[in-house]
Amino acid sequence: MTNCNLNNHIINIIHNNDKESIKTAEELAKKLKSHGYQVSNTYDYCAELNICIGGDGAFLRAVHNYSFPDIPFVGVNTGHLGFFQEISPSDLDNFIESYKKKDYTMEEIYLVEAIICTRTSCIELVGINEIVIKGINSKVIHMNVSIADNYLERFSGDGLIISTPTGSTAYSYSAGGSIIFPTLKVLQITPLAPISSKVYRSLTTSAIVQHDMVIKVNPEYRDENSILMVVDGIQHKYDNIVEINLKLSDMTINKLTLDPHNFWWNLKDKFI
Ligand code: NAP
Ligand code: MN
Repeated sequence: MTNCNLNNHIINIIHNNDKESIKTAEELAKKLKSHGYQVSNTYDYCAELNICIGGDGAFLRAVHNYSFPDIPFVGVNTGHLGFFQEISPSDLDNFIESYKKKDYTMEEIYLVEAIICTRTSCIELVGINEIVIKGINSKVIHMNVSIADNYLERFSGDGLIISTPTGSTAYSYSAGGSIIFPTLKVLQITPLAPISSKVYRSLTTSAIVQHDMVIKVNPEYRDENSILMVVDGIQHKYDNIVEINLKLSDMTINKLTLDPHNFWWNLKDKFI
């Protein structure tokens, strides 16, 4: 951003390939140009705003594809649910008027990071909704879990979802997790089909963890030395992982919102 001239008023339009998204993108580009903005369809790193057209999935993929940029996002919903996507395609004029008048607020979206290590090296993963640790081939996964260096449990079951506040309405919610107001700086561990028997004893509810407490996971291996890590719905298979450390990332994403009190209304509108 340092060598960018923000007086150029460039806006990136990012869309998925649905008919409705393509049509909305064309309409939006026309409208923005008539208001004096430059529109880029090829991701200009000097843009002042990213407008993402599609559903929540389109937003998640845009953030990953452009490597968690500083440029703020706003979403136009042509998707199925569109929990993140605040603007409706019929409301583009309103949005542009509000945007020009700077009649909006910026929300910080917290991210979850995982450092996953073999005996010899580590790599980092970052998620917007969640990072899920699962066994392979639908096998039960056993893993030892510590929080802030306190040993908690030897988990046995399908896996663990480590969710951000934003992700609390996604996979974690379906697995019985709590809905978390997005400004709360916490992570949520939500178990997936935890086994709780005389043989295996795992917490059966989700737990909410302060943002700077590291969640440490040491998988146990039986037949194969592989685990799955699913980041915002994208699956990665890893071999010989000995430790995974998860916490809220220092990095955040900015999302523009016209109505900062929109969350509860949105929740009711989309879920009930
Ligand atoms: P997808 O299969 O289309 O996503 C499943 C549904 O989750 C879609 O309706 C999607 O909305 C919605 N969604 C995504 N993020 C959300 C959020 N933060 N709050 C509320 N709803 C949300 O795949 P996708 O669109 O690529 O999304 C990936 C996400 O799917 C993952 O991050 C995971 O959270 C979720 N997921 C859920 C389950 C489950 O609930 N059992 C299982 C696997 C994955 P759109 O229709 O607008 O895209
Ligand atoms: Mn989707």
